[in-house]
Amino acid sequence: MSSTDKPGAGRWRWLSGGRQRRQEEVILMMLCALSIPSILPFGIYRLLQGSWASAIVDMALVLAMSSVIVHVWRTGRYQVASVCVTIFYTGGMLFTVYLRGVGLVYWVYPTMISAYFVLRPSVALTINSIGLGVLVAVLYGRVEMLNLATIIVTVGLVNLFAYIFSYRTGVQNRRLHNAAELDFLTGVGNRRALERHLAEYAQERRPQLESSLLLLDLDHFKQVNDQYGHAAGDKVLMRLAELMRRHTRSSDRIFRYGGEEFAIIASGAGLNAAASLAEGLRGAVATATLQEDHPITISIGVSYMDKKQTPAEWLAQADKMLYAAKQGGRNAVRVAS
Ligand code: GH3
Ligand code: MG
Ligand code: MG
Repeated sequence: MSSTDKPGAGRWRWLSGGRQRRQEEVILMMLCALSIPSILPFGIYRLLQGSWASAIVDMALVLAMSSVIVHVWRTGRYQVASVCVTIFYTGGMLFTVYLRGVGLVYWVYPTMISAYFVLRPSVALTINSIGLGVLVAVLYGRVEMLNLATIIVTVGLVNLFAYIFSYRTGVQNRRLHNAAELDFLTGVGNRRALERHLAEYAQERRPQLESSLLLLDLDHFKQVNDQYGHAAGDKVLMRLAELMRRHTRSSDRIFRYGGEEFAIIASGAGLNAAASLAEGLRGAVATATLQEDHPITISIGVSYMDKKQTPAEWLAQADKMLYAAKQGGRNAVRVAS
């Protein structure tokens, strides 16, 4: 059973209609969903009062948030939507303060904090700084200077604290992610990362560029360990990973699949492009000096990541081709037809 099949691996599956959602998508949808019951009652109240301008702002926000939920739910795209939500919120908040005065300045605080939930801290800080500038312009001359200074200082502090917290959380998340998904020895992705990437590719509903999968295995690697020791073998693995990084594009993903087996997801590469990538790698390894006084070669199996098949089938096909390359005498590439 792959890690992507394990119960609990898709923690957000219940929210997703079968697709495993990113945490960012869920947070954005929850933020929008929470803001609807927070804003709607005020909108209705303003409507009943006949405060048309305020009611329109509130209702427009509710409509915008509902649209964002539907958009993210259906497409899974959240980056642009996150920026839009923050701009809607900030604009709505500023317009409300402009219409109804300083009494509604309390909305500034939750609005600005919410930006740090859905955006990178630097982006949230930038949008909020602009928001604060506009807020000061809106309130200038309408409130006492001491009152205005208090608003500026408290809004500034809220942003500072939220920024620090968000930044620290980001650093910790990256560390956790690296610990969970990077191979300790070579620094490339580990098997868990490979399975996640394959599952994500399989679940991707948008039409996307075609991709291929390469499985690489060192030839007679046991001899290197036996002859030069395990530490020398480790060094060969590190040098090989480095060589693979140099000979692939930044969009290709490299993983250590097992002991001396690696996998590459060549995104945007059909079988022909993947075959020449594999051939290039094979040649580069054969001519490089990964271990002094000992020729090192690799065998590679290539499969096409056909959307009609499962990740397990892509892996099985590439593995079959790798086996064929070994049977064919090693230092070879075999491509699934
Ligand atoms: P083949 O050409 O058939 O692949 O031969 P091989 O010797 O490479 O294959 P085999 O599977 O028999 O041996 C793989 C070796 O890889 C055995 C194991 O000691 C070694 N190995 C696996 N992981 C590591 C590692 O992290 N470091 C080192 N130094 N060796 C490793
Ligand atoms: Mg081997
Ligand atoms: Mg092996």
